[in-house]
Amino acid sequence: MRFDIMTLFPEQVENFLRTSIIGRALQKNLFELYCHNIRDYTTNKQKQVDDYPYGGGKGMVMQAQPIWDCYRAICKQVKNPYVIYLSPKGRRFTQTRAKRLKKHENIILLCGHYEGIDQRVLDMIVHEEISVGDYILTGGELPAMIVVDTVARMLPGVLADASCYEEESIYSGLLEYPQYSRPALFEGRPVPPVLTGGNHAEIARWRKEQALELTRQRRKDLYRAYLKKNSK
Ligand code: SAM
Repeated sequence: MRFDIMTLFPEQVENFLRTSIIGRALQKNLFELYCHNIRDYTTNKQKQVDDYPYGGGKGMVMQAQPIWDCYRAICKQVKNPYVIYLSPKGRRFTQTRAKRLKKHENIILLCGHYEGIDQRVLDMIVHEEISVGDYILTGGELPAMIVVDTVARMLPGVLADASCYEEESIYSGLLEYPQYSRPALFEGRPVPPVLTGGNHAEIARWRKEQALELTRQRRKDLYRAYLKKNSK
């Protein structure tokens, strides 16, 4: 799988995604990542990428031309890319959407900045708009990193095996049970005794009960959906 990110701040995205688990996956070539600086594609001498909005109003709008040229340059390298514009107007990003995106061989992520992007180029190249939540960020870079991180950790070899993400919160349909590590006693607080008893069936039962109760308390929507699915 290959991600191409169109951004005005490639270093932000590179610094994050080339670190830790996702960074190691890139080093092992488990997937590919290319960041493209939209500014490199401007045709004006000042390297300007934004201009005032037609009709007036505050802020600046990213112009169509550098984005269009950047997109066309990427299309010379990849076949049938699926283009996503990160936008607060988009459909909310979820684990289910991430699972669907995993099926695409080539994904282009377009990061907006300022007041957004000239609608004409969006109409020309974008297949889907994705929002990471009902709040406004300064740019699409953080949302792009969220999408790449979420999808990449489900690719074969990135985590030790599929159970690492399948048993986690949301993916499993429940919120995950509480986790504990050494020492067994911390500031007078012991680890729940069942976890140190060595009885795997009991541990599994305790974890399931904890996950169900946590989900019932915090996420009634997930809890109801889980009961419905598992009562069939
Ligand atoms: N004027 C735009 C509006 O009201 O819809 C908001 C522009 S925002 C300041 C600049 C860029 O940040 C957007 O073009 C988009 O790429 C990104 N962005 C901001 N919030 C986002 C969110 N919740 N999800 C995805 N992208 C977001």
